[in-house]
Amino acid sequence: MVMTMGQSGHSSGDPGGLVLVLNSGSSSVKFAVLAPASGERVLAGIAEKVTTPEVELRIRRYPDNVITEQLPDGSYQAVISRILGHLADAGLGTAADGASAPGRVHLVGAGHRVVHGGERFTASVLVDDEVIAAIRSSSHLAPLHNPANLAGIEAVRAVRPGLAQVAVFDTAFHQTMPPAAFRYAVPEPWYTQYGVRRYGFHGTSYRFVTERAAALLGRPLTELRLVAAHLGNGCSVAAVRDGASADTTMGLTPLEGLVMGTRSGDVDPGIFGYLAERARLTIDELNDALYTASGLQGLSGVSNDMRTVEGAAAEGNERARLALEVFVHRLAKAIAGMVVGLERLDALVFTGGIGENSALIRSQVLARLGFLGLIEDAEANARNGRDTQGRISLAGPVVAMVVPTDEELMIARDTARLAAAGAHRA
Ligand code: ADP
Repeated sequence: MVMTMGQSGHSSGDPGGLVLVLNSGSSSVKFAVLAPASGERVLAGIAEKVTTPEVELRIRRYPDNVITEQLPDGSYQAVISRILGHLADAGLGTAADGASAPGRVHLVGAGHRVVHGGERFTASVLVDDEVIAAIRSSSHLAPLHNPANLAGIEAVRAVRPGLAQVAVFDTAFHQTMPPAAFRYAVPEPWYTQYGVRRYGFHGTSYRFVTERAAALLGRPLTELRLVAAHLGNGCSVAAVRDGASADTTMGLTPLEGLVMGTRSGDVDPGIFGYLAERARLTIDELNDALYTASGLQGLSGVSNDMRTVEGAAAEGNERARLALEVFVHRLAKAIAGMVVGLERLDALVFTGGIGENSALIRSQVLARLGFLGLIEDAEANARNGRDTQGRISLAGPVVAMVVPTDEELMIARDTARLAAAGAHRA
């Protein structure tokens, strides 16, 4: 989700300087340069087909200058170098030695989204050699993501060696879950030798939206019992007790839990043996089907995109209608289940592309959760809570609300804070 800009895209008089936020994937790099204090964006964009000769960089220089360019070299390093070049062109870069030139805005650090921090990382950290080694040693838990995240970190190091770098983990927030929530009932060595346990994801988003929800409710986060539903292409729900994660629906991998765009969410683990036997499917084929051909896509046969599925259902497509029913049933069931770890529910928070924009899904979920004390305010819900401080429920014991997430801003804030602390120590 991209925040609205401040009045001037190029003002950037933010005394805290700017942060480069990177989400380096195996084939793309998403990036933004923003001011951590205000959330104001200076640059944002995506490089696609990274590591191939056809790499294409699409960059928006705020407020509205969009540039698309082919790069002669597709490496992560070349991409990052070019992004920093654009920053300098905008008159906002720093001198090569990292010192800020007079009249220019200082780049205080680079913040990286890192998917899996295993049990080692319970919060964001300044990157050093040891952290790089630890991220590498967690790569078996996210073989597609962690190596790409590391490639981004190493590329920034090569291009701007003096720049503070911070790793922000999707899993870290959930490290407060108690064993009752994170252990699987499987043989002990699977956990002790192979790390088979529930880790959970979307932690950066949950931190952002629960802080924001507390501010909107005018109550300290440390006294709130919240359930938050992050519903994007990937979907999960988390229980947040007094500011700490108590439970969540994703597990060892981001496949567990809710129905998602193309991912199945929970299935009977007996499916694996059954289909291996009956359909002669290999592990790769099963994995591929559960990650890419299931979820809304698999059920509806129409699309993995909620807007399209909602549209098809409205036109009478039966499979699309069923996909929505399964999505909502499983989501409502998961939300109710999350309350067990909280003992009390103060507010239910919706976020992510679906959570922020689909009045239909929210309405259907709330209709199933009346027994928790949730009553939809239809008018406020139709307006995505825009004029009601996020609130979409009528007065009652529990508040339902919409809180737009901004993971990039959370990463930028962590980066600025840790970079300042690191500079202070040095
Ligand atoms: P990602 O997880 O990749 O960041 P998003 O958070 O942007 O994705 O969420 C994408 C999902 O949000 C898609 O399924 C999309 O259809 C859905 N979405 C966005 N806008 C709407 C809307 N107005 N109504 C229903 N679904 C929407």
